[in-house]
Amino acid sequence: MIQEEEQTAEQIAEQNERESLYIVSNFAEEFFVDNLHNTEEGKSIALSYFKERGFSDETIKKFRLGYSPEKRTALTDAAQEKGYQKQYLEKAGLVIEKNDYVFDRFASRVMFPIHNLSGRVIAFGGRTLRTDKKTAKYINSPETDIYHKSKVLYGIYQAKKTIVEKDNCYLVEGYTDVISFAQAGIENVVASSGTSLTVEQIRLVKRYTPNITILYDGDAAGIKASFRGIDLVLEEGLNVKVVLFPDGEDPDSYARKLDSDELKEYIEGQAQDFITFKTNLLLEDVKGDPVKKAGLIKDIVESISLIPDRITRSLYLQECSNLMEIDEQVLIAELNKLRRKKFRDKAREAGHTNEETEIPEASITSPTQQDVAKDNFTDIEFQEKDVIRILLTYGSQNVELPAFTEDGEDETVPVNIAQFIHSELGADGIRFENKLYQKVFEEYSEFLSRMETPNEKHFINHEDTEISTLAVNIFSEPYALSKNWETHMIYVTREQSDLKKTVFKAIYSLKLKKLSQLVILIQEKLKYSEKEEEYTELQQQQKLLDDAKKKISDVLGRVVLK
Ligand code: ATP
Ligand code: MN
Repeated sequence: MIQEEEQTAEQIAEQNERESLYIVSNFAEEFFVDNLHNTEEGKSIALSYFKERGFSDETIKKFRLGYSPEKRTALTDAAQEKGYQKQYLEKAGLVIEKNDYVFDRFASRVMFPIHNLSGRVIAFGGRTLRTDKKTAKYINSPETDIYHKSKVLYGIYQAKKTIVEKDNCYLVEGYTDVISFAQAGIENVVASSGTSLTVEQIRLVKRYTPNITILYDGDAAGIKASFRGIDLVLEEGLNVKVVLFPDGEDPDSYARKLDSDELKEYIEGQAQDFITFKTNLLLEDVKGDPVKKAGLIKDIVESISLIPDRITRSLYLQECSNLMEIDEQVLIAELNKLRRKKFRDKAREAGHTNEETEIPEASITSPTQQDVAKDNFTDIEFQEKDVIRILLTYGSQNVELPAFTEDGEDETVPVNIAQFIHSELGADGIRFENKLYQKVFEEYSEFLSRMETPNEKHFINHEDTEISTLAVNIFSEPYALSKNWETHMIYVTREQSDLKKTVFKAIYSLKLKKLSQLVILIQEKLKYSEKEEEYTELQQQQKLLDDAKKKISDVLGRVVLK
């Protein structure tokens, strides 16, 4: 570990203490593993249980499953004999001290160790093999200095590599679900283990993929109760899908019932995006009841309003408008209302008074194009910057694009990325609102007209310091989002591995943004239009823009949401 600052004595003591907790936990893990495989008691009681559950030797080893013997002081004795201090065993949650008597927390249970991202054991879950109702089926380590339940996902250490490869993470309920899935060949799976999903857990997943698929068992009531948690996931900007299991089955039981291919097929076939899933599930309740349906619209739009990305939001609004058979404009109006309210609440939290933030409806006058553009400025600036970033970073590379030959056969041809961006934006007469970006774009275009591409150095060493600053900015820290090197590399690898998607996404997001601005402008004008002809004219324009938006959204949807 690299220490950037001198640590205080107190910090060193704390770190040593945590290190001691890791060390005793590791000892316990090895003790439990050893007992499972190398003692008569472990083999006959615990190993046979795991085998009956269908866990293979390989799986048992991979998840470091173990057995804590019946004798109430087995671990306590073994640890103390090796010189581990009682206080650390206790602080690690492994033993309990009561009236001077020290005994094992997990005696007589099969053990599921919980690992952190680097594979160190930080806690345990233990399952009893008894069937009497009095014994809790599972007990877990308490919160300790190395185990914060809300920040941990069971299985993340074993799953993280596959999560990146598959660009998706399955979320299940418990230990056995994770293990059965992994054994069935679905290794990108983690569990929130006994807690409802927390923001920290969601961010943990987000380090590896923006896609999460939640696997549900249970009844509609239970599922509805979990909707709040999923709103959190949306709010973090992840794409959420949902898979429902048949009545009476959970991921673990179903994974054992089907073979690996059938299971994969089932999951892929069942996966629905969360908004569609929620809409369909709730729609059943409100059939024929307009008042309830209005409540449902609010509920769904509230979920959609949490999604940070505008394009994703608008795609979902369209979809809900279809599903609920409600005019999209109604949903948009509702969404805007919610976002305005959120904005006001935020302003209030920040200490502004009502008078400053509340704009009386009557005082709003017809906006000009500039007003609208200004309103959306920060938004479009983001899309503009992304296009410039891609132009400078990947401009000299090629992507394979379909070309339709005369005999009607599909083939692909390599197209230079900078040329492609140039012609796509040129065809729609798009200019950058940000003057600096426009300047960079024009200069790049001059190179293209001479059949050249500038290299990185050209912009980094540019005499215009605004341009060189921008270039350095883009090349040294392309994604402000990624906080550490590991995530950063994952992001870069993913982006490069699918350049076509990257380029399309950037260009079409910018186009969609431009169109959205125009639509907003026309909508505002429509509100204040008093002449009949003008109104009709505006409506026609709006229809054209809406059609164009739909087309672009479709392309984007195919590219981005795939
Ligand atoms: P059974 O063999 O009876 O199905 P199980 O071990 O599969 O038992 P379930 O009751 O089916 O357990 O629960 C499913 C999952 O939920 C388990 O994998 C377990 O990890 C998790 N779980 C259940 N209760 C708890 C608990 N108290 N704390 C943490 N996880 C729990
Ligand atoms: Mn079960």
